[in-house]
Amino acid sequence: MCDLCSLRRRDFLKGAFGTVLGAATGGGLFSALPALAQTSPAPAVAPPREFVLRGGHVLTMNAAGIDLPAGDVHIRDGIIVAVGENISAAGAEIIDAADMIVMPGFVETHWHLWNTALRGAIRADDPKAGYFPLTLRLGPKCTPQDAYASVRLGAAEGLMSGITTLHNWAHNIRTPEHANAELQALKDMGIRSRFSYGWGQDLPLTSPMNLADLTRVQKEWGGSPNMLRLGAALRSPTPGSRGAVPIDVLKVEVDGLRKLGLPMTMHTGVKGLVDVLASIGALGPDMMLVHAQGLSEGERRAVAYTKLVYSMSPVIELSFSAVRSGTIQYEELKTLEVPLGLSIDSSGASASADFFNVMRALMWSDWQRSGAPLRLPPRRIVQLATIDGARLMGLDKITGSLEPGKRADIITVRKLDLNMAPVQDPYYSLVFSGQPSNIDMVVADGRIVRRNGAAVGIDVNKIVSEAIASANGILSRG
Ligand SMILES: [Zn+2]
Repeated sequence: MCDLCSLRRRDFLKGAFGTVLGAATGGGLFSALPALAQTSPAPAVAPPREFVLRGGHVLTMNAAGIDLPAGDVHIRDGIIVAVGENISAAGAEIIDAADMIVMPGFVETHWHLWNTALRGAIRADDPKAGYFPLTLRLGPKCTPQDAYASVRLGAAEGLMSGITTLHNWAHNIRTPEHANAELQALKDMGIRSRFSYGWGQDLPLTSPMNLADLTRVQKEWGGSPNMLRLGAALRSPTPGSRGAVPIDVLKVEVDGLRKLGLPMTMHTGVKGLVDVLASIGALGPDMMLVHAQGLSEGERRAVAYTKLVYSMSPVIELSFSAVRSGTIQYEELKTLEVPLGLSIDSSGASASADFFNVMRALMWSDWQRSGAPLRLPPRRIVQLATIDGARLMGLDKITGSLEPGKRADIITVRKLDLNMAPVQDPYYSLVFSGQPSNIDMVVADGRIVRRNGAAVGIDVNKIVSEAIASANGILSRG
């Protein structure tokens, strides 16, 4: 071990991480949760155990920016207990991670999992089958069982693609049973998440969302803050649009949600919308806005002043919403120090949950806008995809980086695959060359759910076949 490495390791291990440990060692997963009668899923994840990922190129994504070209990560009972070099851990399984990039799992910040199973039916090349007309038409045809099948499909796809935390932006909650079904699917897949309770696609614009049922959800599902956080998804008061929720209805919702103490989220992108939100006091640190497009300079200042956070979905924003809402204002918001993260939006509409592609899309967007050599460095993009996303979700004490005391959300990426080799700078290779098939291992909250590139404890065939049956049913009814 070189002097620099040992200095780095010492500094790293005696850093501020000890304080995290107490907060990150909460109780078992969903132990007090109600069962969903209509589903009987098999256990989806392997039990926790102790192991060391040995000799990988460790990208810690910690605040000091420390990487270990030949480092170890020691995991016990779902927690990262040590990160460094030549860690000794008697009794732990040693897993060879040489020739791997070892990094935090991706943190996704806005994803409509309920329509994952509509993939293929949603078409970008046919206005009648576009995302909005199709989800509006078929959303009311979705049963709770459909919600379960679709959310489980998306969550499984996410895990296999290296996403270990996601924000389920649930805007087809038509009944309490739909809410329970989506929550149950997240629980069964063992993925860390925020569930943002929304509305039903057929809810009249003049009717507020079901705050009473959200209160029930808080009581019944709010007991595992390490794995599941709750929030609310709001309809947009889109200026000039016939689909806008009336301001007085929105105000009732915002006031009610603030009484419940829940974070909120809303789609933006349409010009003038943030001004409308500011006029009713809806902006604040409890608000996550989505689609950083179409903002005026004044709106950007209001965003920065009120300390809200922004989720960017570059794949969707470069395709579906680019014409309507303009380019992604990453650089402007970064300059104002607005917290930013990355998201899928819909893997039904954007075709997959490939977070490498999401990172690349932001890079391309910013590169094209700047017209100069790459001003958005690959390391910064990986930051947005991991620790910055965790910060956006209020989960940065729990996940998003490889530090002692944090929950173990980790992926390993093969450096010797044909599309990756040779790797000189791991960040550059991840952003320019990476794809989900390069992921060798996924550790979600300490449980290995993908190993040697294959699912562990996740019945992919069953999940896929049940999602296809669900989609066929929805389409036949719709
Ligand atoms: Zn969205």
